[in-house]
Amino acid sequence: MNAPLIIVGAGHAGGRAALTLREEGYGGRLILIGDEAHLPYERPPLSKGLLQGSTDLAQCSLCDSQQLAALGVEHIAANPVSRLEPQHHRLQMADGQWLSYAGLLLATGGRARRLPREQANVFYLRTHDDALVLRNELKPGARLVVVGGGFIGLEVAATARGLGCEVTLLEAGPRLAGRVVPPVISDALLALHREQGVDVRLNVALECIHADAVQLVDGQRLPCDLVVVGIGMQPNIELAAAAGLEVGQGIRVDAQLRTSAADIYAAGDVCEFRLAGLYQRQETWRNAEAQGRLAALNLLGRALAFETIPGFWSDQYAWGLHTVGVMTARMVRRALPDGGLLLFYLDDHHRLQGACGWALGNRAAKDIKLCERLITARIPLDPVSLADPDVSLKPLLRG
Ligand SMILES: Cc1cc2nc3c(=O)[nH]c(=O)nc-3n(C[C@H](O)[C@H](O)[C@H](O)COP(=O)(O)OP(=O)(O)OC[C@H]3O[C@@H](n4cnc5c(N)ncnc54)[C@H](O)[C@@H]3O)c2cc1C
Repeated sequence: MNAPLIIVGAGHAGGRAALTLREEGYGGRLILIGDEAHLPYERPPLSKGLLQGSTDLAQCSLCDSQQLAALGVEHIAANPVSRLEPQHHRLQMADGQWLSYAGLLLATGGRARRLPREQANVFYLRTHDDALVLRNELKPGARLVVVGGGFIGLEVAATARGLGCEVTLLEAGPRLAGRVVPPVISDALLALHREQGVDVRLNVALECIHADAVQLVDGQRLPCDLVVVGIGMQPNIELAAAAGLEVGQGIRVDAQLRTSAADIYAAGDVCEFRLAGLYQRQETWRNAEAQGRLAALNLLGRALAFETIPGFWSDQYAWGLHTVGVMTARMVRRALPDGGLLLFYLDDHHRLQGACGWALGNRAAKDIKLCERLITARIPLDPVSLADPDVSLKPLLRG
């Protein structure tokens, strides 16, 4: 019997790859190995609907167990792969069982970066089980300190306010989400969270966490019932590194998402690929979806290059943030109703490189979809029209 295709990591990228392999007609043995107890699921709801209690795991799952069984995907849950031997095309799971593979996809994602000292009142958010534990703590009136003003911290703060918690948010840098959004959006985030009653503090350094308070370096003590730490994630590269695969800040791949071992691919948060000449990882839903799909096609021998326009979204209170492309070139700003914003980034030829939308409800999502089409179309655009809220974006696609 031929060796199976194996996917390590039953998260978003791994689950998408398994489904794609079947959609594309792969009829051989297919094994999806995860260390969590659940079917593959999407993580964005963990800090939003699932934490709030309006969404459950089934609604976040990529498929249900009957679908997986009908597709003939063997899902091995709660059994991490502990060893990989690329030279022998085999791997071992925590229960000691060895499996040989014909082709392998590493989609091991990442884990929440933790503070050096573990403490009972400190929580992290990466998995469904983390979200359930945290949800139980977010009772009305609970005093929560969020450490980290990136997207996970901000979304947790917004959800916790909705649940009636008192929230203080600490950010070490001078602005919110400073790594990923332009200053004008950081300002909008700050204004919104303060308006919603979050005590946001910028440029603060944490000294230590006690059972009932957070101590800042400047001597201030913030009494609290619980602390959520959202200070980024660490890619799960150890399995690949120990097997001798090339790693940097992630598992390094070529243009086809192939690692330094010929029959092993990588996809999702753990995958470090070259974009505009630089190695980088993307920790987004869109990237997990696209790379999971492409890695599956390449496991089937298609040899397709990964081409991407990056993008992500975040929902906070009634507001939505959506981005697409690269936000570094010349910026043109359009005001939207209720204080919303649409930012366009143009190159020297006035072609769109990236865009960022911040608006009530779903409005920015629609604009950003059109911006993606404008980026692909590479049509020179008139900055005056872009800045004008009365000019609809769709006709601009006609050039
Ligand atoms: C709380 C939260 C909110 C988010 N919100 C947004 C959002 O609004 N918008 C957006 O664009 N993105 C968002 N993201 C990011 C997005 O969810 C991730 O980019 C995406 O989940 C990455 O998918 P992945 O498959 O690469 O990794 P994961 O989904 O992390 O899957 C990897 C899986 O592999 C498992 N694994 C690791 N090592 C092993 C091993 N040795 N053996 C077996 N299994 C292993 C892991 O436990 C995990 O189950 C959010 C993420 C989080 C955590």
